[in-house]
Amino acid sequence: MSERVRVVVIGGGAVGCSCLYHLAALGWTDAVLIEQNELTCGSTWHAAGNCPTFSTGWGILRLQQYSAALYRRLSEAIEYPINYHVTGSVRLAHTAQRMDEYRYVHGLAQANALAYEILTPEELRARHPFVELDDLQGALWDPCDGDIDPAQLTQALAAGARRAGARVQRFTRVTGLRQLPTGEWRVATDKGDYLADVVVNAAGYRAGEVMALLGQSLPIVTMSHQYIVTEEIPELLERSERLPLLRDPDVSYYLRQERGGLILGPYEHQATPMWLDGIPDDFSYKLWGDALDRLESYIEAAFRRVPLLASAGIKRVVNGPIPYSPDGLPYVGPAHGLSHFYHCNTFSFGIAQAGGAGKALAEWVVNGGPEWDLWSLDPRRFTGYATKAYTVAKAVETYQHEYAPAFPYEERPAGRPLRASPLHEPLAARGARFGVRGGWERALWYDPEGRAEQTLTFRRQRSWMARVATEVHAVRNAVGLMDLPGFSKFMITGPGAQNYLDSLVCSRLPQANRISLAYVVSEAGGIVSEFTLTRLGPQSFYAVSAAIAEHHDDDVLTRGLPQDGSVRVERLSERLGTLVLAGPRSRDVLSRVTQSDLSNRAFPWLTAQRIEIGPAQLLALRVNYVGELGWELHVGTEYQEGVYRALLEAGREHGLTHFGMYAMDSLRIDKCYRGWKSDLESGYSPFEASLGRFVDLEKPAFRGKPALLAQRTRGVTRRLVPLTLDQDGDADPPYCSSVFNEEERVGLVTSGVWSHTLACSVVLAYVKSELATEGTRLSIDVLGVRRSATVRREPLFDPQNLRLRS
Ligand SMILES: Cc1cc2nc3c(=O)[nH]c(=O)nc-3n(C[C@H](O)[C@H](O)[C@H](O)COP(=O)(O)OP(=O)(O)OC[C@H]3O[C@@H](n4cnc5c(N)ncnc54)[C@H](O)[C@@H]3O)c2cc1C
Repeated sequence: MSERVRVVVIGGGAVGCSCLYHLAALGWTDAVLIEQNELTCGSTWHAAGNCPTFSTGWGILRLQQYSAALYRRLSEAIEYPINYHVTGSVRLAHTAQRMDEYRYVHGLAQANALAYEILTPEELRARHPFVELDDLQGALWDPCDGDIDPAQLTQALAAGARRAGARVQRFTRVTGLRQLPTGEWRVATDKGDYLADVVVNAAGYRAGEVMALLGQSLPIVTMSHQYIVTEEIPELLERSERLPLLRDPDVSYYLRQERGGLILGPYEHQATPMWLDGIPDDFSYKLWGDALDRLESYIEAAFRRVPLLASAGIKRVVNGPIPYSPDGLPYVGPAHGLSHFYHCNTFSFGIAQAGGAGKALAEWVVNGGPEWDLWSLDPRRFTGYATKAYTVAKAVETYQHEYAPAFPYEERPAGRPLRASPLHEPLAARGARFGVRGGWERALWYDPEGRAEQTLTFRRQRSWMARVATEVHAVRNAVGLMDLPGFSKFMITGPGAQNYLDSLVCSRLPQANRISLAYVVSEAGGIVSEFTLTRLGPQSFYAVSAAIAEHHDDDVLTRGLPQDGSVRVERLSERLGTLVLAGPRSRDVLSRVTQSDLSNRAFPWLTAQRIEIGPAQLLALRVNYVGELGWELHVGTEYQEGVYRALLEAGREHGLTHFGMYAMDSLRIDKCYRGWKSDLESGYSPFEASLGRFVDLEKPAFRGKPALLAQRTRGVTRRLVPLTLDQDGDADPPYCSSVFNEEERVGLVTSGVWSHTLACSVVLAYVKSELATEGTRLSIDVLGVRRSATVRREPLFDPQNLRLRS
């Protein structure tokens, strides 16, 4: 006999207990948490307990901000004692680049009503009396940082959940998982079975083992992380206040007060992955022996920075397991391809993030999605390519860079190349500099002379700017060619395809051979997916979306498929490559390699045709993301090199130039084409994104229709608009920079790029609706400096789309 419950949470660390707490808070009290040993016995018990709000990512910052607010009230709310010290923290800066990073994060914090401060060295001394200031440029103050007792936090969350009616089953190990034809999950344990509607995998560093029970793999690796606890220090005992936490990211360590002593924790270059051949059956409440040799240089640097530290002896060393994903971010959300199965695991900073992660997880389960778009944590961001070797290589690199500045445009080398187009070598021979999108190597820009240095900076002085300008001008004035491997591609066919898609997207379906943008929205009307949809036949549709969206959009397209088999969804992403040929001379080039009539009459804008180029039959879409006459050629990868060579040959006399992702980004901003998960995310509706023309409220039904109807009646309070900056400055506004109307914060930037066509800085930003009119003068905080900007009408370039139609 199986016990019937609504939800099983596997794992009783800080994160699992927070999931249970938040599920119960949302009314899902018929919930049981299963823990193989005692609560906290995994990574949680030995964590240093630091709880920063600081993050260079919007999602994590909000998650941690929520955690900090929850931890402040939790103890009182459930009458459970928790040692939580809100001390604030200082982050030191040795370089101008680091100060720029702090200015950027200061902006993110400001947009979330967090009162961070940029400190001069002298102001730093006032906050932390024991720090040596030589060679420092300044620091960042996070007033909400602090440290919490991880075990007390976990027990408090469990107590709160129990009080609401949820249950905790300790000393019970989950040994099997199976989904029944009814959709229910049979969760086998060493103490009996459960039958559950929903399963949450919160098994910490064992989350991969849990997936192995289903025959699936999860990109996760355990890293060893150490911190040193010192003996008591008289100067600290004499103080009435605790020291703020100190981080010296340019050296790579944290240092905080623990009772009368200090804790020193480096993220060392000699990052050490563990348990590569499997995790021992029982590691509860265990640690590894210390490996101080890995830490020596960091200890010495910390001694110099805070000499007080050198006066104390080492009391103990903690060397424990931390789970890492390839990008160091956890997995929070639905598991790809499984229904009613969620991840909330692989946390490298699970104490600081447990509160917010539990909230988000519970919202996924109960409401179908979290309050904030948390794509950066979505388990589906790795689209099946992250092998074990890749995961280890990336996790090591991420651990080594845990405190490195989060430079925009940085492309780190570990684990690459992984997925590459058949044109990788020919493009590399032309000087392509590659970056990774959805695991695919893509040319970012071309350095034909091979002389450009790789510069990392928050400012605009980048080695590639001049080259990208050349590529942009070639596309605008002649013809450009781009290889875009990895686009997510789906073929949707079958007698029910039209009705099914019509009820899935909020947009009108395209007519025969026509192409249109189609959006899927959530129940609340937020943008979930964006497809370029082509109707190839009465019941045959070709859908294309971002490379990184493959698993996400596969779920979107397949989770609600009719049970009668009347619709088939086929994934073509790896079978088809994409070449973009765009620019006023693109017709001249293409017509030299195909017999098809490419005239406007025979092949108008936003239509599709099968054409032949040499031996290759391919699908040509007269559409592009750069706003020029042009075609996307979707071609079997086996033919791709032949087609490429034919185009090169034909393009020679027309000045055909290769262009990369950076040029495309500059070109698309001229046309105000939106980016998925930057300009478009679940927090914004199509009306807010100024995409109302793609919403068909006359259709009988689609998910989210009531919400969009209500919004149309009510009107929206913010809208996406382009703005141009009035002066060049030396930086473009980074993602999530704030927009101001005098002193009032009135919006948020979602893209900020230099337009090589318009020769100015352009942003797309959501601003208050009453300000979203052409000519409104506003200002934007760019790395700490207010820069004046003007709202423009979109698109900024070729408003009649004459070039696209030419
Ligand atoms: C030295 C060190 C210092 C750290 N310092 C910090 C810090 O300062 N701040 C911070 O935010 N983070 C810190 N961390 C990271 C933090 O410890 C983890 O991110 C966090 O504890 C993860 O919590 P969790 O609940 O996801 O995992 P865990 O605490 O590992 O919990 C997972 C639970 O699942 C149980 N489980 C696994 N498999 C099964 C199964 N099959 N059946 C039943 N139960 C199962 C395990 O027994 C375990 O109790 C530190 C880590 C280390 C090693």
